[in-house]
Amino acid sequence: MFENVVIIGGGPAGLSAAIYLARADLKPLVFAGSPPGGQLTLTSEVENFPGFESILGSELIEKMRKQAIKFGARIVDENIKTVEISQSSSKVSQKFVSANSNEFQRIPTNSIIIATGAKALWLNLPSETRLRGKGVSACATCDGFFFREKTVAVIGGGDTALEEALTLTKFAKKVYIIHRRDFFKASKIMQERVKENKKIEVIWNSVVEEIIGEKRVEGIKVNQSWLNRSSQSESVKSATDSTDLTDLTDSTKQLLKVDGVFVAIGHKPDTDLFKGKVDLDEKGYILVKPVESVKSVTDSTDFNRFNYQRMTSVSGVFAAGDCADRYYKQAITSAGTGVEAALEVEKYIVESIKY
Ligand code: NDP
Repeated sequence: MFENVVIIGGGPAGLSAAIYLARADLKPLVFAGSPPGGQLTLTSEVENFPGFESILGSELIEKMRKQAIKFGARIVDENIKTVEISQSSSKVSQKFVSANSNEFQRIPTNSIIIATGAKALWLNLPSETRLRGKGVSACATCDGFFFREKTVAVIGGGDTALEEALTLTKFAKKVYIIHRRDFFKASKIMQERVKENKKIEVIWNSVVEEIIGEKRVEGIKVNQSWLNRSSQSESVKSATDSTDLTDLTDSTKQLLKVDGVFVAIGHKPDTDLFKGKVDLDEKGYILVKPVESVKSVTDSTDFNRFNYQRMTSVSGVFAAGDCADRYYKQAITSAGTGVEAALEVEKYIVESIKY
């Protein structure tokens, strides 16, 4: 069967697109991934999705799925293994997606929405995995509220880490930034803001070796073996100045009592599948751009009548959510761009039928 549209991704972007396309009677086929649901299912309560004062991330996803199915979307909890895009004799490129289940499926489709999301990078410590959602988080905007008047640590030295730390100062009484170097790679303006914020203390040249706590985060084990290196930063206290660090038997390691740990060492968009198929930026985020610059559309100006904003470098292939978002990475912004992609798919299908 030739599909109108295949949506790859079952997070807020993919499911919001599915709701709109299902209500437009286009019967979208959603590959929601395995396990489905994206980053929202990793967070606990969500308190910043308009309309819900407080809802579990997994519950929010479940509600979106039900809403999409109610209007006629079909959702398959499988990962897409390959995407093929080829030029046909017509002006509309041919697209196939293949999923691997018991049976190998190759599905032809008129259009595709890529909504595969991004994954926060983690330290990959066993204790970090065990305590995720129990004091370990990768999203201060989502979880900062739960650390009112508590002490937290943010790990990383880029813009995300500094932004997370500043966000957390609205709630926490004390915020440590643990960074493995003696200088930040974050923008100067963010460094200035951090320097001026009295709630923030930076522990330089340090890596977190373990997160302590059984049922909840109670502290972190910090390895300061790099401490002896000369510091380029005079602006901030060195780790030894912090009265909250307690020496452990090994003199290079210290214990810092914290209630929460925010890992902010970067994100990786889930776009490996699309390398060489649609244009990506140097970090792997999918580039979306107005249709004027879409490469695989022929010279026809007919497609230009509508100024597509969510179309990738390939005609009929759209992207939404964190896989195409370097900056905002919020559930609601993902849902918003998912809706934009859905509205553009509707336009695209009407236009492409003419060829
Ligand atoms: P970055 O890659 O810029 O920074 C990641 C940081 O984490 C680096 O300091 C890095 O250390 C550190 N790090 C990486 N791996 C580890 C590890 N295993 N253990 C300890 N530390 C580690 O990622 P960001 O998410 O901060 O930023 C990504 C992009 O998004 C950047 O271009 C940034 O400017 C942009 N951004 C812009 C914002 C804005 O304009 N408002 C807000 C947030 C992000 P090291 O320094 O040693 O490499």
